[in-house]
This record gives sequence, structure tokens and C-alpha cells, in this order.
Amino acid sequence: MSAPLLSLRGVSRHYPTQAGVVRALDRVSLDIAPGETLGLVGESGCGKSTVARVAMRLTDVDEGEVRLDGEDIARARGRALHAVRPRVQMVFQDPAASLNPRTTIGQALEAPLIVHRRGNTAERQARVAEVLRSVGLHPDMAVRFPHELSGGQRQRVAIARALMLNPALIVCDEAVSALDVSVRAQVLNLLLDLRETLGIAYLFISHDLAVVRHMSDRIAVMYLGQVVEQGPRDAVWHRTLHPYTRSLMSAAPSAHPANRRLPRVVMEGEQPSPLDPPSGCRFHTRCAHATDQCRASAPALRLLGADHWVRCHLA
Ligand code: SF4
Repeated sequence: MSAPLLSLRGVSRHYPTQAGVVRALDRVSLDIAPGETLGLVGESGCGKSTVARVAMRLTDVDEGEVRLDGEDIARARGRALHAVRPRVQMVFQDPAASLNPRTTIGQALEAPLIVHRRGNTAERQARVAEVLRSVGLHPDMAVRFPHELSGGQRQRVAIARALMLNPALIVCDEAVSALDVSVRAQVLNLLLDLRETLGIAYLFISHDLAVVRHMSDRIAVMYLGQVVEQGPRDAVWHRTLHPYTRSLMSAAPSAHPANRRLPRVVMEGEQPSPLDPPSGCRFHTRCAHATDQCRASAPALRLLGADHWVRCHLA
């Protein structure tokens, strides 16, 4: 892997609440290379969105390092933080909610250029037209309002807004989940084309494993605030080592039952609360292979193949 564009090292983020401390992230380490797509999967509440917020520097971290192009941004403030913003942008799940209904598409796209003092009015409008074209929309769209667009067009606008400042990394948090299947395929292909032409890296968060597999170069699997398996896409997909990943993979729908790769592995019970994660291996309360060792000691993330990391005593 080339020098990482984004690197998280031992990042923890805990949120104090009245009921106790929510351990949203616990010593998470991830790397994303320039132009690479890292797919991030796991159940709701596993910490995926907190990773996105950390990558965007929308939240502080309690411990660990967050490096962007080698520069530690975990504790950046003021001007230093303002300089980070254009480099990492985000596409949200619901394009209708992420666009202001009272501003035109052109105004929404121009806003980041104004905030970051890029160009004069004519140059900004030229950039708006250029980026609209790059996402497959006609520049005339600039005068329309979000409610005049289809769901797919709105998500293209959301992608265009993320592109306005020439970011190095775009965080896609369930970016196609709210779209119809046919539109979803078009938006995914657009993201792949943009990666090809502009060299953008993606942190691609989705509960849809088929989509993650289609988009990603590498995959990281999270459970209760920890990365339990990560590695190259084909290694994680075809040589799955962690029981949790195996159960997620086995639950992935297949177009034909005969093509199902793994027999269905049903997890026991509910995901425990991040307020009080189980001792030892956090997955032991739901794992069919749990032993006394699993209940007593927490497994470390171990390297078990070319860049293939697994957090399991028995892997
Ligand atoms: Fe299951 Fe034990 Fe591995 Fe945890 S360490 S995933 S409980 S086998």
C-alpha cells in the first residue's frame, strides 16, 4: 500500500451519558491510500458513523492519531481545521435532507467556494457548470430547486457539492441506500468513474455487502466499536476469517439461492450495548465458537495473510 492519505491509529471516542460511557470507538486503526476505496461494514451502532465523523474531523478523539497526508489533524483547531475541510468531504444518505429546499442548486454548489474564498463570481459559476457536467447533469440545473429534481438527480447534486473543492477523500455514509435499485447502480457507477478520472479516495460505509464488494479495494468490518477484520476485498470476501464477518456474509442476499457462497450462520441474541461491552472478546456472547479463553481475554488484531487482519483467538 502506498503512503496513506488518511490514517487512524489507536483512535478511541467515548461519549459520557447519564446512563454511563458509550464506547463508540475503541483503539480503531485504519488506513486509506490515495485513490483507494475502503468499505466499512457492520451492524447499526458498531461505530461506522463515528469513524466517518472522525475522518471528517466533525468530532474530537479521546486518544489516538488521525493523520491526513501525514499531518496530525486530530486536534486541529481554527485555521488549521479550516484548511482540512476542503480535503475531506461527505455525501449523506438522504439527498433531500442534505440540501436546503430554499436555495437553488447553483447556490448550494457555490456556497463552499464562497466559504473558502475561491475565485470571483464568474469563476465560481463556471466551476458550478463544470462540476454539474462531471456528475452527468446539465448546467441549466443550477437554477432549479431541490424539490424539482428526482431522487437520483438530487444525489448527483450532493456528489457535485462534495466535489466543488477538489477533495482528496469523500466519505459516503450509506450514500445510495435511499435510492431505487436502478438509480443506485447509476450513482455507484458515477462514483467509480469519478474515482477513475479524479483519483479521489472513498470511505464507503454501507450495510449492503454486495454494494461494498462492488465498490471497495479493501474492506473493514466493525463490531461494537472495534475493527474485527480488515484486508483486501477478495481476501475478506473469499477467505473470511472472523465468525462475525462470516455471519454477515452469509446473510448477504444472493440473486439466486444456488449462488449463496456460505451456509446461513445465524448469530445468537442482540448486539450488546456499547455502554457495557462484554469482557474478553466482545463477540463472545453471540459466537458459536466461544471458549473460556474468549470470555477471559480480549483478542488482539493479528496479521494472518497479506494485509489481512483478524481479531479472533481461533482464526
Ligand atoms: Fe468467537 Fe472467540 Fe473468535 Fe471471539 S475470539 S470471535 S468468541 S472464536
